[in-house]
Amino acid sequence: MLQVCGPNAAFQGTIRYLFRPCPHLILTPQSSPLFFTCGSRKIGLSKMVNPACRPHVTHVIFDMDGLLLDTEKFYTEVQEIILSRYNKTFDWSLKAKMMGKKAIEAARVFVEETGISDSLTAEDFLVEREAMLQTMFPTSELMPGASQLVRHLHANGIPICVATGSHKRHFDLKTQRHRELFSLMHHVVLGDDPEVKQGKPSPDIFLAAAKRFEGGPIDPRKVLVFEDAPSGVGAARNAGMSVVMVPDPRLDSAHREAADQILSSLLEFNPADWGLPPFQDLAS
Ligand SMILES: [Mg+2]
Repeated sequence: MLQVCGPNAAFQGTIRYLFRPCPHLILTPQSSPLFFTCGSRKIGLSKMVNPACRPHVTHVIFDMDGLLLDTEKFYTEVQEIILSRYNKTFDWSLKAKMMGKKAIEAARVFVEETGISDSLTAEDFLVEREAMLQTMFPTSELMPGASQLVRHLHANGIPICVATGSHKRHFDLKTQRHRELFSLMHHVVLGDDPEVKQGKPSPDIFLAAAKRFEGGPIDPRKVLVFEDAPSGVGAARNAGMSVVMVPDPRLDSAHREAADQILSSLLEFNPADWGLPPFQDLAS
């Protein structure tokens, strides 16, 4: 049984034609993501695209939390502590809904989804969480491969920037030990930037980031985004950009369908797959 989900009749017509020998073809109208299911297996359409057909990338945008910096673990730890007071446990399905969002948006998801909003408002949750996070953020470590990739792209003249939902004060605390690496970014767009009206998955932050490169706005099709969060992948998609996802292994596979490429670590990234200058050891 082959099931195809696609955005419109024209798309489905094309698929129906291509798979006309298949007697068990089911076409399902659905906007996004595009995927095929075969039995219980689901295959994102983007993953079927030959790497040779990927767009030639000229600019790169990095998410920060959980992608360049190992900071997601701090949020998880603090939220587990707060929830334990209400005899509730924090799980990765809730984590997936909060990741990458602006603080107040994630806080509302947290108190509402856990059913504690009568006892703890989103605003009070943020105040309590903040006190604990303040001491953790300055200890932030880089994710594996982050330094190597940022330095490689910078050394080869590829314009790079950061687009993070974090606001200025948190950004300063998190990057305290990594100032030199972050100075290689052409610019940084933060969650409290006036141009970022809505957090991810709204495309606001990535469109603002593409606009601020030299000669911007850059054609979104030439921009590659690195993300770890489902909302961030959605934001990149909504901005019309390509996206490499480096998800936490605990993230349910259903949240990975929209990405163009999925890696278990930045160490796995091959720049040549995207028309970017190859690493020296791979080129030789
Ligand atoms: Mg992230």
